[in-house]
Amino acid sequence: MRRSFTTVELLGSGDTVSLARRLRARCSQLERCALRRAVLRSALASLEKGWCPGNAEHCDHPAHDAAWVAWDHLTRWDAIEEEREHEERGAYEERELLEFCLRESGRIPEAEIRRILDTTMNTAGWSDLVGGWIRDPLVERYDAARADYLAALRSLVLRDAAGAR
Ligand SMILES: [Zn+2]
Repeated sequence: MRRSFTTVELLGSGDTVSLARRLRARCSQLERCALRRAVLRSALASLEKGWCPGNAEHCDHPAHDAAWVAWDHLTRWDAIEEEREHEERGAYEERELLEFCLRESGRIPEAEIRRILDTTMNTAGWSDLVGGWIRDPLVERYDAARADYLAALRSLVLRDAAGAR
């Protein structure tokens, strides 16, 4: 990919170059958060497997409940933190609950719990890290940049082919 960027920057028109630069920016954005993203998304997937397989409303299995609460906390952790700062609540209340539920769910190995809690220390771009069931904004922006770039590249190649004839 990187070599093809260089080629485009040498041969491409202004549009293609700027699209290539945008795609490169999206790539490094993905690279930068890849590790935290992987930690969070794998935790969410494990917690989903711990949800109550029966009727959650009548469930009294603590692990099922904990898996749901931890999942719910992780998916909207940025909002929880913002709310907490707003209400000037103690910094550790929600984090302790999250830690307790992660452990209680029985789905997350101890070393992974530490890694997840480290990730929650910084909520910048949280929704990009978490992604979503249906939509995953970060990947969507990358895909869009990639599609634009490839379309521009294609028309460049076609133009050159026409010129060579
Ligand atoms: Zn249950």
